[in-house]
Amino acid sequence: MNATPVPVVSVQSVGSDAVALELRSPEGFDARPGQFVKLSATVDGEDVSRFYTISSPHITETFETTLTIDPTGTFGPYLSELESGDTIGVAGPFGDAYYEDEAQTLIVAGGPGVGPAVGIAERTLMDSGETAIVYVDEDPIHEQRLSALSEQGATVFVVSDSDALPSAIEEATDGTEPQPFVYGFADFLEVATDALGAAGVDTDTAKTENFGPAPDA
Ligand SMILES: Cc1cc2nc3c(=O)[nH]c(=O)nc-3n(C[C@H](O)[C@H](O)[C@H](O)COP(=O)(O)OP(=O)(O)OC[C@H]3O[C@@H](n4cnc5c(N)ncnc54)[C@H](O)[C@@H]3O)c2cc1C
Repeated sequence: MNATPVPVVSVQSVGSDAVALELRSPEGFDARPGQFVKLSATVDGEDVSRFYTISSPHITETFETTLTIDPTGTFGPYLSELESGDTIGVAGPFGDAYYEDEAQTLIVAGGPGVGPAVGIAERTLMDSGETAIVYVDEDPIHEQRLSALSEQGATVFVVSDSDALPSAIEEATDGTEPQPFVYGFADFLEVATDALGAAGVDTDTAKTENFGPAPDA
């Protein structure tokens, strides 16, 4: 799938070394929170592409992805320094682990996985559903959107250690059977899937997106 060049609308800090990147939607572009796009650009004379997951609840004239930036990485630092009006290539959407109008959602997120988590939770509430986020991060991002979600009735647990995952998931589900989603780097997915199982959730039903090897792996 060829990349469509689109303008950057805004780049906003959403925490330390983390930005929300809002882009103009390509013509005819439609996607759901949890799907991902391929962004591409020329960085220091080399063509670079990476995948980023949609973190806005809806696609309108614009859509958003959320990035955490490793300063030693190639594309993250480049994207975080873009400005309104710059151009970036977009291809997609891709992926099949996305929100499909489930009435109850549970999103377990690690690191930048909180991007699709807030997008899916916001969309679930807009659709009059019930939602819970269990988010693991030593240095959480998107705190404003997580607080707003909590005020609107979402169950939100932010924990600094994955050891706390099983009990947080158990409390978040509270005997219900929401659709589970898991987003994050590969090492997190393993831990999160084990935690879902330990909390009594049927892990075969989980919609899972792997962001690849952890940045410091
Ligand atoms: C399906 C999918 C969805 C994804 N969704 C998201 C998302 O929503 N948000 C998000 O933030 N990421 C997401 N990712 C990850 C993203 O695509 C990139 O892998 C990530 O941003 C790192 O890219 P980079 O070019 O900055 O780092 P890379 O240059 O690819 O480097 C990766 C890591 O290698 C190490 N490294 C690289 N160069 C050096 C060096 N010179 N010295 C020492 N160490 C080095 C660093 O630790 C670096 O972080 C997703 C990935 C996939 C596959």
